[in-house]
Amino acid sequence: MEPVPGACDVAIIGSGYTGLSAAHRLASGGLSVVVIDADDLGFGASTRNGGMVSGTLKLSHKELCAAYDRDTANALFQEAQDSVLFLEQSIAEKGIACDYERMGMYFAAYAPKHYDGLAREAEELAALGVETKMVPATEQHRELASGIYYGGRTTTMAGGLHPAKYHAGLVAACRAAGVSFRSRCRVRRTYRQGAGYTVDTDRGSVQAGQVVVATNAYTDPGMPWFRRRVIPIGSYIIATEQMDPAELRALIPAARMIQDTKRNLFYYRLSPDGTRMIFGGRTSFRPISTNESAARLHAAMSTVFPSLAKARVAHSWTGSVAFTFQKVPHVGQHEGIHFALGCCGQGVALMSYFGDRIGRRILGQGGDTAFARTRFTTIPGYQGHPWFLPVVGEFYRLLDWLERPKS
Ligand SMILES: Cc1cc2nc3c(=O)[nH]c(=O)nc-3n(C[C@H](O)[C@H](O)[C@H](O)COP(=O)(O)OP(=O)(O)OC[C@H]3O[C@@H](n4cnc5c(N)ncnc54)[C@H](O)[C@@H]3O)c2cc1C
Repeated sequence: MEPVPGACDVAIIGSGYTGLSAAHRLASGGLSVVVIDADDLGFGASTRNGGMVSGTLKLSHKELCAAYDRDTANALFQEAQDSVLFLEQSIAEKGIACDYERMGMYFAAYAPKHYDGLAREAEELAALGVETKMVPATEQHRELASGIYYGGRTTTMAGGLHPAKYHAGLVAACRAAGVSFRSRCRVRRTYRQGAGYTVDTDRGSVQAGQVVVATNAYTDPGMPWFRRRVIPIGSYIIATEQMDPAELRALIPAARMIQDTKRNLFYYRLSPDGTRMIFGGRTSFRPISTNESAARLHAAMSTVFPSLAKARVAHSWTGSVAFTFQKVPHVGQHEGIHFALGCCGQGVALMSYFGDRIGRRILGQGGDTAFARTRFTTIPGYQGHPWFLPVVGEFYRLLDWLERPKS
């Protein structure tokens, strides 16, 4: 096993989209960079996600206005939109073949009041120049062949890609730019030394001028300040066996990315080659096996699309997303260490963009972001083990059930 280099300009902890985007920017700017991952490269969420690219945040614009002032809310929203443009430009510049397409997203209303909420938000979004279109239940068949929703809303600043191909393309671009990698090498401790930092790993110590923490939901006890501020939540996905593409396309005629509006939401899409349904959700707030999650997701998928009840599940997997207590990501510095954490399940475009911002900041090329103004606090006693999730999950399930009209 190769030891870590003795010294470098920047050590990056974590080899997902955040770490790789930062690494590429920094190496392209002439700095020596090592990316260190505790596991295989891309072991975290960056090779396990649904590949949905969206310029939205977990909180609505109205909720952001309530949590911050209107200018900050607008700036956060604008940057979320910009992150999609950043991603598209980055993919094009690096020549990454990852099946990216901007086909848009459809938010399916799970209850009539959710449809009204989507409509109200559409007006606020229009004022910000965000293009959306309300789709009443009578026209929903153009988006979704499912009888369980009450209409919805499309947004054009969204698309889909193959997450692992995108990750592999970033790794290749980083290598070409001169980035060094050390996989299966856990960082145990990072502390200031002189003008820089010492990063202790399983394979020796590296003296780094700057350090970037890009560990998101996989932040471990060796980084207690960060770990106390992120809530790792399991998300589960299945892919069906290969099926007739025409049959699948009839279920999602515009082939958009789909999310429903439940608190315990489902997200789904066609695979890039159109031969599989990819169906995901937070089916459990306790760790469960991928056999069990497959059965639960299959049942859910069959409720949305009864014609898929007989479809076999070919793949089932899981990964962790990171929430902050504020449900908004945060980009910042702690004791001089740069970080971007808490994607809240929407990190394909955003975390890529944040990594690049951090790189620019270190290079002295700007890199400002409104996400440095979001709060990033914890609660007393929380050490990174979210014991409260099963309770919160059940509460959300109850609220979802209460909001749904009973037949
Ligand atoms: C099932 C699932 C579905 C998702 N679907 C979507 C989607 O459709 N659209 C979307 O926008 N987002 C989605 N997300 C979220 C998105 O994947 C993440 O926001 C994004 O990949 C986070 O990237 P990252 O680089 O910050 O972290 P990660 O990719 O999670 O990487 C963190 C890395 O840090 C490493 N690490 C941790 N501790 C140490 C240490 N001490 N030393 C060295 N290395 C360490 C880990 O091994 C890991 O590889 C999904 C996530 C999951 C899990």
